[in-house]
Amino acid sequence: MTVENDELKPIRSTLLPYGQQWLDEADINAVIDVLKSDFITQGPSIQRFESKVAEYAGAKFGVAFANGTAALHGACFAAGIGQGDEVITTPLTFLASSNCVLYQGGTPVFADIDPLTYNIDPAQILPKITSRTKAIIPVDFSGQPAEIDKIRSIAKDHHLVVIEDAAHSLGAEYNGRKIGAWADMTMFSFHPVKHVTTGEGGMIVTDNEEYYRKLLQFRSHGMTREPSELIKNDGPWYYEMHSLGYNYRMTDLQAALGVSQMDKLDDFVARRREIAAIYNDEFKDLPGLVLPHQHPNANSSWHLYVLRWLPEYFTASRKVIFEKFREMNIGVNIHYYPVYLQPYYQSLGYEAGICPEAEHYYETSITLPLFPKMREKDIDDVCTTVKLIFDYYRN
Ligand SMILES: *Cc1c(COP(=O)(O)O)cnc(C)c1O
Repeated sequence: MTVENDELKPIRSTLLPYGQQWLDEADINAVIDVLKSDFITQGPSIQRFESKVAEYAGAKFGVAFANGTAALHGACFAAGIGQGDEVITTPLTFLASSNCVLYQGGTPVFADIDPLTYNIDPAQILPKITSRTKAIIPVDFSGQPAEIDKIRSIAKDHHLVVIEDAAHSLGAEYNGRKIGAWADMTMFSFHPVKHVTTGEGGMIVTDNEEYYRKLLQFRSHGMTREPSELIKNDGPWYYEMHSLGYNYRMTDLQAALGVSQMDKLDDFVARRREIAAIYNDEFKDLPGLVLPHQHPNANSSWHLYVLRWLPEYFTASRKVIFEKFREMNIGVNIHYYPVYLQPYYQSLGYEAGICPEAEHYYETSITLPLFPKMREKDIDDVCTTVKLIFDYYRN
């Protein structure tokens, strides 16, 4: 065995995940309180959670959903997306950002990313607009807000709805203003790897009362009991179904957990920013590595730390590099395989090559562990492993 190979043995005994929740006694007690109460679903915690998130994000209304994907589906419904409508989004995202368009019978159209920020490039949006375009779904990739001011202005000129997929960017700001206060509707996810968790959960925040009403109905079978909305009123038991909705409700157990988690959000985001700054500092002098570029208007909440490299500097493929991290017990990940390359999207007729920047990104990127609960030793392990692996494979 060579000396170099010896250096690449596991750096720790257990796998460090790329993301993980942080739950404390207050969170656990909040859930227990609901378990002992009269309502474990459709109770008072839902509204408390909705108000807390909406207020934090600078929006008037919040509507909680069973998960972020259901929330995006609701937003497409509220925006009136239907058969034949086109919605422009980024290929560098989780499946849900474009699947929500398909659920409504619409057609996702992919605009390429900015190679610096990895967010949808506003200049790539313009040529994709047709008479059938109805909405834009930007994604704040890795927690760094997309150029939402430019996107809003394009949307205004072409009468499009902006639905911001902010699954990565709760707590982030653009031009000093919180994400949630920019788009027509903004989606947050509360999956355990995201900034705050409810197990599964999602929310749309909006200032628009009409969207708000539609979202409330959509998450509960398209039903309403609001006297002002009823066509007739047979009595106190009576409800009407006005559209085809779903059962997309969040439980009170989850909402209570969310309320408790929100108390820690600012600390979580601060810690994520701290860890990202440590990584930036540790990696800045390593030849051939590309650190996450930050747009001057964006203040990321750092859901992901993505490391890229210039392939000509290294002898190993991405697969080899990835496997080496895993062997050393550093739980790296890849975000994301461009959505339109998925077999299902290929079967719909999307062709490879439509977003070359996103495809190139996919081949030369890796996501490092980043979550507030990481200890100093965990951060050290990541830094040491990055240096060992990239030094080992450098030309
Ligand atoms: C997590 C995520 C979603 C979906 O959220 P779920 O709550 O898991 O349904 C949507 N878009 C992006 C970019 C995400 O990361």
